Amino acid sequence: MNFETVIGLEIHAELKSKTKIFCSCSTAFGAEPNTNTCPICTGVPGTLPVLNEEVVNLAIKAGTALGCKINKFNKMDRKNYFYPDLPKNYQTSQFDMPICSGGVIEYEYEGKTVKVRLNRIHIEEDAGKLIHVEDEPISLIDYNRVGVPLAEIVTEPDMRSVGEAIEFLRKLKSILEYAGVSDCRMEQGSLRCDANISLRPVGQEEFGTKVELKNINSFRELEKALKKEEKRQRELYSFNEGYKVVQETRRWDAAKGKTISMRSKEQAHDYRYVVEPDLPPIILYDEQIDVIKKSLPEMPEVKRERFLNEYELTEKEVDILISDMGLAMFFEAVAKEGIAPKMAANWILGDILRILKDRKTESLEMTLDSVNFAKLLNVVSEGKISNNIGREVLEDIFDENKDPIKVIEEKGLMQISSSDELEKIVDEVIVANPQSVEDFKAGKTQASGFLMGQVMKKSQGKANPKVCKQLIDDKLSKL
Ligand code: ADP
Ligand code: ZN
Ligand code: MG
Repeated sequence: MNFETVIGLEIHAELKSKTKIFCSCSTAFGAEPNTNTCPICTGVPGTLPVLNEEVVNLAIKAGTALGCKINKFNKMDRKNYFYPDLPKNYQTSQFDMPICSGGVIEYEYEGKTVKVRLNRIHIEEDAGKLIHVEDEPISLIDYNRVGVPLAEIVTEPDMRSVGEAIEFLRKLKSILEYAGVSDCRMEQGSLRCDANISLRPVGQEEFGTKVELKNINSFRELEKALKKEEKRQRELYSFNEGYKVVQETRRWDAAKGKTISMRSKEQAHDYRYVVEPDLPPIILYDEQIDVIKKSLPEMPEVKRERFLNEYELTEKEVDILISDMGLAMFFEAVAKEGIAPKMAANWILGDILRILKDRKTESLEMTLDSVNFAKLLNVVSEGKISNNIGREVLEDIFDENKDPIKVIEEKGLMQISSSDELEKIVDEVIVANPQSVEDFKAGKTQASGFLMGQVMKKSQGKANPKVCKQLIDDKLSKL
């Protein structure tokens, strides 16, 4: 039987506020464990939360960017559960009246337009981080993350393949980044994703039983986890009766490359939601929503159109550039430094992306700035150094944002264009390769190319190819 895959995602994005959702502790990532904490976020009895207005504004911004309806009356609720990463024993979240409802993301995937509806966006506090010490019966807890504001974005089960789901997450990430509501650093956990997946026979209207996959923190892992689970379910359905997919939550174990059952429907949590009595309802005004709407920066789709109009680039080039806001901004900054857009795009999409890939970082953040990069491209376009040497210099300046001119001077990489200097090298090469000279005389013109290569080698790539070729041709014809 043929099966169709059905996927719905629940995404947690840390909102970019400086302080936590209910207290004034910093949200900065990477601080010493348990230093960004206070009696409020660690749940000391008797303390009272105060809602951070910035968090509300960021959620409105996210909702606006995603085409959601902003609910002018919404409220916080308590979601009760007991776990060491949650010192209050309940998470302050939103249950039946979230800040945003609906919304949609449309994107192209494999030649067709995919429309994924959003169910809702609600705001809530993050939990702490448990660190399980390997081979020891010890777990450490870092409460710095407790109380960091999250937007939980829930989609409808509208995706029909693993590829569609991956592409959806890319689109969502890019919109959140552009809107400036979240850093979306998956490797730091500021964008996390739970994936729900089920199969149903092709043609069947009714959805199959879904399995929820938790603990996925990169695009690669999301793809692996979904593919593995898709296969597992397909195999279950293909077996004889008696085997079936049970509704459960499974944890993705990246190291083992498989999903492990955490709890079935029977053991599902009963969260005993209650209205948060310590916080009043959130009432929003049109004026406030309008101001936020107007403050939205250029979104990816608009930027795409503008790039296509303003720069002579292909659709493919533009799509890659705008897929990451940082990359798009970097490109524009380089172009503003006076570099031809095509050249800037070629180098960014070729060399810079290759170096970033070598560094194996999920985020495309880099130290090199547009000014130093533009300086390098300038020297290359003026022919003072060759493309190849330019690439070497790029490697050299990349990590520490060095001044390329200094590096070129220090290493003596400027191209040799003076014929005097080059003539010396050409003469040496001709003397050292009598066979090639004979070949040339015998009519094998490709011998001059070989000599040219030798001159390049001897000059460590610094010989100006034009001048050099002229010299070789002159000399050979006179011999
Ligand atoms: P639950 O009641 O288990 O919380 P919801 O209906 O609230 O389920 O949906 C939670 C997530 O699961 C949503 O992202 C939704 O799109 C997705 N989902 C729901 N049903 C299915 C299904 N049959 N297959 C795949 N995903 C599903
Ligand atoms: Zn605090
Ligand atoms: Mg639900």
